[in-house]
Amino acid sequence: MLIFTSTASLQTQLNNFKQNGKKIGFVPTMGALHQGHISLITNTLKDCDVVICSIFVNPTQFNDIRDLEKYPRTWNEDIRLLEIAKCTVVFAPTISEMYTEQELALKQQHIEDKSWALGKPIDFGILDKVMEEIQRPGHFNGMAQIVTKLLRIVEPDIAYFGQKDFQQLAIVRSLVKQLSLPVEIIACDIVREKDGLAMSSRNTRLSVKERAFAPAISKCLFKIKELASIKTVIALKNIVIDDLKQIPEITLEYVEIVDALTLQSITDFKQTKSAVACIAVKLGEVRLIDNVILYS
Ligand code: AMP
Repeated sequence: MLIFTSTASLQTQLNNFKQNGKKIGFVPTMGALHQGHISLITNTLKDCDVVICSIFVNPTQFNDIRDLEKYPRTWNEDIRLLEIAKCTVVFAPTISEMYTEQELALKQQHIEDKSWALGKPIDFGILDKVMEEIQRPGHFNGMAQIVTKLLRIVEPDIAYFGQKDFQQLAIVRSLVKQLSLPVEIIACDIVREKDGLAMSSRNTRLSVKERAFAPAISKCLFKIKELASIKTVIALKNIVIDDLKQIPEITLEYVEIVDALTLQSITDFKQTKSAVACIAVKLGEVRLIDNVILYS
């Protein structure tokens, strides 16, 4: 497995692969890898000759500096897992490799004066006005900024994203379309722990007690799916709100049932051909998100 920290050396190697007709697959990550990330690598290897995994904790998508500082960093274990998964190339750039001082200063200014709309690379319309963006203003701006940079550096044939970050996936698809980037986006299923908890780098920050409560999150979503044909949207949301009220350690940020394409809340299942239930909670200090596709 090859490891690069500089864009120039990565691109020299990638040009070599491309000249030899290799199909390039790309998996962007923030590290602290688990089997959810590894499933993306495995999926890539089914379609592509070469898989590039980037590891970069992107500062511009965090609007809370403490969250950025506490984000788990497990470099040695990441490399071990990627070796086992037969990843071809790791790209782990420094912050200064990816951002100019000016870009970082602009983000800081946006945090301080809350002028999130400024410097927006592209307009995602309604996609980034709901759910995560309400809780984490500016998050998708930063995500779009880094994904655009990475896609332009790597120029993969296909890029793989997890359905776990459902809204992110919709925004990446919109980004690729609007910028006419020549890349196919493939969505991969959510990988879960045996008890249903969606794998996440943040799970390692849960205490033993919090971890024991965490499966309640996916349980709510599975319940919505099970009852979707016999209950109204509002009744389903209320069930989740009531269930989670029983667990004081969990603070519900939102539970939404949305159209899978527009991400707009629906009030009646007749309003859409594809629906997804999305949830975000705080469990202690740790913010967790999950979703389940109800039908498509
Ligand atoms: P992250 O490192 O959290 O930015 O995630 C990198 C990629 O892995 C994103 O496309 C995520 O959606 C995906 N991912 C994270 N957790 C999971 C999971 N449990 N199952 C499948 N994909 C995941």
